[in-house]
Amino acid sequence: MIDFHCHLDLYPDPKRVVAECVARTIYVLSVTTTPSAWRGSSTLVDGAPRIRLALGLHPQLAMERKSELSLFEKLLPEAKYVGEIGLDGSDAYKGQWQHQVDVFERILHLCAREGGRVMSIHSRRAAREVLVRLKASPQSGVAILHWFTGTRNELETAIAAGCWFSVGPAMLSSERGRELVLRMPRERVITESDGPFAQYQRRSCVPWDMADAEAIIAKIWDVDRTSVEHQLRENMKRLVAVAA
Ligand code: MN
Repeated sequence: MIDFHCHLDLYPDPKRVVAECVARTIYVLSVTTTPSAWRGSSTLVDGAPRIRLALGLHPQLAMERKSELSLFEKLLPEAKYVGEIGLDGSDAYKGQWQHQVDVFERILHLCAREGGRVMSIHSRRAAREVLVRLKASPQSGVAILHWFTGTRNELETAIAAGCWFSVGPAMLSSERGRELVLRMPRERVITESDGPFAQYQRRSCVPWDMADAEAIIAKIWDVDRTSVEHQLRENMKRLVAVAA
């Protein structure tokens, strides 16, 4: 199983979740929401062979943690993956829009300067605005739009721009989400939990829920589980190769 967008450090008992991922041989990309969380998260996943860490500054924290951009810049050379970053246009955060834009554009610039990164990107109610910035920063790396909730048109734009997509049980539980997944190129889809934020079966989604995600994707693609596992594994290998 593969969980390419999970906040391992934010579960109530992170060590237990990490141990479970190790025991179940799950590949995890653990994203961070602030640069100051990087060191602690590194310690948390230290020695876990299939867990990788992404350096992030979440758009919902962009205003509050803008001062951590200098730390982001300092840590970026040692980070092969970047996330969670992006823009959030929902009502609760659009008042902080300019701060979000400043932070996101600055991070894209830094990624480009470092030769590009594999980036896990938040685009809630801001798909168009995220895509405009990615287009303006083509050297920033490979963009994975996590839990994409844009329109069909925005999806087409994202596909044409070369974006990848990480999809999870929460998204796959809705008809609209499944419709979008059906239209995503199979060679650019990867699974994600977005735990502990995303809810699944009335609890926080966990990396081992990716088994259910695979089963739903198998139905959408009209193939068997083994084919889905194979495709996702091949996709992950290509991302890992880019990040190396
Ligand atoms: Mn997230």
